[in-house]
Amino acid sequence: MLITDVQIKFSEGLVNIKHVSIPERCPHCGKNMSPRVYSGFSNHKNGYSKNNGYPESGTKRVFCLVLQCVLCNSFYIGNFKANKFDSEGIITNYGYIDVSYIPPISNDIPENVSEISERFSGIYNQSLKAKEYGLTEIYGMGLRKSLEFLVKDFAIYLSKLNSDDSAKIDSIKAQSLGQVISSNFREFSNFSKLFQSASWIGNDETHYIRKHPEKDAEFLNSLIKVLANNVSNTVIEQEAMKLVDDN
Ligand SMILES: [Zn+2]
Repeated sequence: MLITDVQIKFSEGLVNIKHVSIPERCPHCGKNMSPRVYSGFSNHKNGYSKNNGYPESGTKRVFCLVLQCVLCNSFYIGNFKANKFDSEGIITNYGYIDVSYIPPISNDIPENVSEISERFSGIYNQSLKAKEYGLTEIYGMGLRKSLEFLVKDFAIYLSKLNSDDSAKIDSIKAQSLGQVISSNFREFSNFSKLFQSASWIGNDETHYIRKHPEKDAEFLNSLIKVLANNVSNTVIEQEAMKLVDDN
């Protein structure tokens, strides 16, 4: 950490803030260095007292600092938040807020899918993040991996509905994706074809030669979304049927 004094233009004017701790990792080149520190800005007041109308939630007050990497010369903004006060309510310390310029990733996968396959949801989200970072090759491979967890965990879910046969569950885990698809889901013929086509495109995403060059990772993503919706619907249907059967 670089510890230095900085000048911040608060709403009441310029204020010198002492001993601000600034991380020494450049968000552009990733190297460690002591950045050039320019001035900072805030639309808040630095001073605080019970009479000046501020609510008690003073920790929401923030300022930013303009910083520059001394190695790659790129500029960036550091964000700081008030986190310590003296007995008068004057801010005595601002802590650094770690922020990412990548917006949060949201997906269209129904929530109950993660109940039967937590790993699927995690891997699928990582794949979307890879795409957001521009890592298109990793995106397709991640989708293929997420598909395997969705297929196997769904097969395990269906198997548990009929019996808790641990040998059957172990064999599903050990089988290849193709084997699991061909030996399960007989009562869901549409699922089988969707799973099959998704696995073909998924394999293309991980192999040197594409067998289906007209289809790409986006098509695989579309298939996975349809499959996840089908899995979600099946889980709800099974719950409804169990409710009726048990009463
Ligand atoms: Zn840099």
